[in-house]
Amino acid sequence: MTRTPIAAGNWKMNGTNAEARALCRGLAGIDAIDSVDVVLSPSFTQLPLVRDFWRGANVHIAGQNMHTQPSGAYTGEISPVQLAEVADWVILGHSERRQFFCEDDQALALKLRAAEAHSLTPILCVGESEAERENQRTSAVLTRQVSVALGDSPAPSGLVIAYEPVWAIGTGQAATPDEAQAACAHIRSVLTETLGAETADTVRILYGGSVNPSNIADFMAQPDVDGALVGGASLQADAFLAITQAIADSV
Ligand code: PEP
Repeated sequence: MTRTPIAAGNWKMNGTNAEARALCRGLAGIDAIDSVDVVLSPSFTQLPLVRDFWRGANVHIAGQNMHTQPSGAYTGEISPVQLAEVADWVILGHSERRQFFCEDDQALALKLRAAEAHSLTPILCVGESEAERENQRTSAVLTRQVSVALGDSPAPSGLVIAYEPVWAIGTGQAATPDEAQAACAHIRSVLTETLGAETADTVRILYGGSVNPSNIADFMAQPDVDGALVGGASLQADAFLAITQAIADSV
């Protein structure tokens, strides 16, 4: 099964509108890199301008979070209906959302269904903490995060999963390619159990955690790694272009 790889940039809570526009300009030509799905995920306030900048180009735009309800008294939240006006993808369950905003697997199950209902392609983030890793709990944590979020429902269309070990995010200490492969293969085995082998084979699984232009090729050489979710390096246009090109070259 051939899975089109993904280069996804999570800009987190960074930059002004002017800086977001400059970053888009610096990424000129990224949409012409063949055989990769490029996804840019700016802050909510930057979404309209980033969407307009890439209108008609082969670039997907993702929210970094969303609420489950289409509207209502949820001050400070963004609904899937609102997000779908400016984005076609959504990142769900990033470890910073889990850690600082108490998102749990049950909430993510609802968010996945909401994404499906509003035609937003979800990137579901999973990954173990440092303590869980030290206690050899990585596989158990990934099994729980994936199976609870998916529940008994059919897979949301286009489902993408990002394996992001918490200890590797923003630390400069990436997982080894072997560690990434083992975790991604485990995630695919959980998908096989929950969704069946045929569907599991189509789900793209990304590695995320201190990815840079020098280490991306080694991750892409792993059979179950289908791309990268990139934080810090996605804020530097040259670095993200180089990562995207390396992902394309790995095909
Ligand atoms: C992330 O925030 O999803 C991430 C992987 O960050 P970084 O690339 O900076 O480790």
